Amino acid sequence: MDVNLLHHNQRPVVNTIMHDISGYDKHPAGQNIVVAIMSYKGYNMEDAIILNKGSIERGFGRSTYYRPSIAEELRYAGGLIDQVCIPDKDVKGYKTEKDYRFLEDDGIIYPEAKVREGDVVIGKTSPPRFLSSMEEYSLVSSTRRESSVNLKHGEEGIIDFVLITENEEGNKLIQVRIRDERVPEIGDKFTSRHGQKGIVGMIVPQADMPFSAAGIVPDLIFSPHGIPSRMTISHLIEMIAGKVGALAGRYINATTFDAEPEERLRKELLSLGFRESGVETLYNGQTGEQYEAKIFIGSMYYLKLKHMVANKIHSRARGPIQLLTRQPTEGRAKEGGLRLGEMEKDTFVAHGASLLLKERFDSDKTVVPVCESCGIIAIRDNYKNKSYCPVCGENVDINDIEISYAFKLMLDEFKSLGIYPKLQLESKY
Ligand SMILES: [Zn+2]
Repeated sequence: MDVNLLHHNQRPVVNTIMHDISGYDKHPAGQNIVVAIMSYKGYNMEDAIILNKGSIERGFGRSTYYRPSIAEELRYAGGLIDQVCIPDKDVKGYKTEKDYRFLEDDGIIYPEAKVREGDVVIGKTSPPRFLSSMEEYSLVSSTRRESSVNLKHGEEGIIDFVLITENEEGNKLIQVRIRDERVPEIGDKFTSRHGQKGIVGMIVPQADMPFSAAGIVPDLIFSPHGIPSRMTISHLIEMIAGKVGALAGRYINATTFDAEPEERLRKELLSLGFRESGVETLYNGQTGEQYEAKIFIGSMYYLKLKHMVANKIHSRARGPIQLLTRQPTEGRAKEGGLRLGEMEKDTFVAHGASLLLKERFDSDKTVVPVCESCGIIAIRDNYKNKSYCPVCGENVDINDIEISYAFKLMLDEFKSLGIYPKLQLESKY
């Protein structure tokens, strides 16, 4: 299982009875930060948030991502067994010497090794899947196949911990834990405790952030458009309560139906020398000019969510394809393509980008011979260097046409259902 650990956890200033019941003070998962509700050059529109670079450098949202890699020496029928080792060069599927460079003599990586995608973490070989009757008696290493555990596409980190043990069946079991420090970056996800999640849209140097008359600079800027449609009034009240708690140096009870009344918090805020509404005059960090509008600013508890761009970033030019449809594989883990769906197609059509559209839909193009007489896909015999129709024989016109492989697959499926898919060929010009 993946684990994410925040580095500098804090007790929430504003909490509820559930925090006591669950012992939340013993395992807090967030940080108290100063939040301002305003827009910032459009970089926090549509749920995006702005982060203060200074806050990040002081440790806000810094976490470590841990991921385990596991390998087991499985036993197979006939006394065959997996072997954790540095694979021999004659093993089927041997990668390259470079991929195995971190492995020690026992075939396992050492702690604190800095690894990137493709690097082997646990070297392993397995017996061949199918044994022909001859090979059963002459087991040479060349029939073994490579089955090492390596870092997947786009992964990197430092080997944190290596464990060698046995499982319930007595098989040798190796666990390697990889660690990666994650400093907040554009695209990472944060949330308050009101379901107000947002993606970092820009990281602003502290000098360019807005500041109050007292010199307070927000750690995070939240878009005001996130409030009316979602009606998270609690989000606003927490900002006032957090502000009072931080200024007065006390924790604030926010339990539903049993919270400190808003009026009392506002009075206390007033007595602490601030406007009771929670707004303040802020100044533009870049020009020094005073903002015309008063800005709602306060302190609240923010959490870092586990969705980080570092785990999601992905691109592909050419790559693996599916065996059945010959179309690109799907998903980041399989180094897949990015689907150009129905709606994306419409935007291409709207722009008149027909050649680009054709290129996108060409990912599984094939050339097949088609019989002009019966309209069925013919057979190409490269050995005799001629094509013939399985129905009409050799003395018919057969033309090569370009179609997508998925379409050819569909025609085959029709045939298997007893449906005759007849192609009528016309000249292109
Ligand atoms: Zn035919």
